[in-house]
Amino acid sequence: MSAGAYLLIRCDHRPPGGEQCDRERGWPVYVHNHTELRRNLKTQGWRRTRKGEDLCPDHAGRPAADEEPEQTAAPTDAQSSHGPPLP
Ligand SMILES: [Zn+2]
Repeated sequence: MSAGAYLLIRCDHRPPGGEQCDRERGWPVYVHNHTELRRNLKTQGWRRTRKGEDLCPDHAGRPAADEEPEQTAAPTDAQSSHGPPLP
């Protein structure tokens, strides 16, 4: 048996002039990396912004100008395009 690191994601939300949220979250079962951890936590409302910040469910719902929607590869006007899907 080998010892493994217990991965955690910490909320990066910081209100203007306030203190950073100190909420953090792990996963009860082993995950290989933070990407897998984030994918799991996404089911609990956690979100990762374009800037690379992790937000807890309490703060993930707050829109910010520098965040992009989840489905960037699915244009809403896809039916009017006859070309191949965009990468
Ligand atoms: Zn938070």
